Amino acid sequence: MENVPLPEKLRPKKLTEFVGQVHLVGKNGVISKLLSNKVTNNYFPSLIFWGPPGSGKTTLARIIASELKREFYEFSAVNTSSKDVQKIISQTKPLFTSPVVFIDEIHRFNKAQQDKLLPHVEKGQIILIGATTENPSFEVIGPLLSRCRVVTLNQLSEKDLGNILKRGLKELKVKINSKAKKFLIESSNGDARVLLNVLEITSNLAGVKPDHLEGVPGLHLTINHIEQALQRRQLTFDKQGEEFYNVISAFIKSMRASNVDSALYYLARMVEAGQDPLYIARRMVVFASEDIGMAQPTALVVANEVFRACETIGYPECQINLMHAVVYLATAKKSRLAYDAYFRAVEDVKKFGNLPVPLNIRNAPTNLMKELGYGKGYEAYSKESLLPDKLKNKKYYKP
Ligand code: ADP
Repeated sequence: MENVPLPEKLRPKKLTEFVGQVHLVGKNGVISKLLSNKVTNNYFPSLIFWGPPGSGKTTLARIIASELKREFYEFSAVNTSSKDVQKIISQTKPLFTSPVVFIDEIHRFNKAQQDKLLPHVEKGQIILIGATTENPSFEVIGPLLSRCRVVTLNQLSEKDLGNILKRGLKELKVKINSKAKKFLIESSNGDARVLLNVLEITSNLAGVKPDHLEGVPGLHLTINHIEQALQRRQLTFDKQGEEFYNVISAFIKSMRASNVDSALYYLARMVEAGQDPLYIARRMVVFASEDIGMAQPTALVVANEVFRACETIGYPECQINLMHAVVYLATAKKSRLAYDAYFRAVEDVKKFGNLPVPLNIRNAPTNLMKELGYGKGYEAYSKESLLPDKLKNKKYYKP
């Protein structure tokens, strides 16, 4: 039990322990009502939970499964394929024992993956609970949305967080002064997981005492302790998940918009979060070809060299190489002409398959091939189209 993180240890198991979200779990709350209806008509709908991180989506889904006495399967769309989900579904038995299948970050499933869930939801083979931090009307496909009930979870209020904090303090047997409490609650941004994680790190950091003081009761947490913990936390938690994708995407978009300041800012966010420098550099190598391309071909050379520098140098110094590349790429002229041209060609390849290569530019290593006209009339500097007949004179690259 020792290694279980505090938020997990304190995850409510019953509706009565669930803090806040009164519009859902209060006496007249949507979820409370659905659960009590269930007793009379044995029906519980599939749901989409829309709410910020750490507001209780996963927790509530688990509580629902336990109240319904159903099996509970939990997936995250970030690291599961729809096949894994299908596998579980194929093992399920009759209707009234349909399990609760929870899919976190369901918006990360693409349309085809979401489509695959449809028939199972429709037949009531599973009670789907999808969780998303994004507006489901944009991120969840229409047919699935219309078969589920969308339920909104609010960011937890300061009062709610205060209640959760109280449980954490009790569990860790530590105290906190009122200023530190306010600071901790404000810096958690309505996210109970962050609150409890930071609390746990804080008390670990503050609790590092000389041996002879080990076990002395009455550890009192202060703002100082929390500040230390917040720095530590960034390195530990920001690496994956929602925020990570937001930041990398904002980073690329900033460079694309030639906005040096925001590109540098997002770089700093990633570096401070301990993001692998090779990952950042790799994205810049791609960017150099995709977004700068023929407007400034040396961008690829610079990006590549920065990648190599990161490889040989590593943190912390390679952040200097990274920022060098970021400023170079962000201020460079941009052109996606080469990129777009190539993907127009790809489209034709997909559309027309393997069209025959014109005879005159075919290789003719044997006599038979020569007799068949391979390579006949080939002229090295001819201006005529070398594309297959069907695509003759087609222009992909339009500089
Ligand atoms: P998410 O909305 O990201 O799915 P979770 O339900 O996983 O959030 O919550 C993470 C942790 O935060 C839980 O383990 C629990 O300790 C705490 N928590 C979140 N919401 C609540 C809540 N409403 N009441 C009590 N604890 C909560």
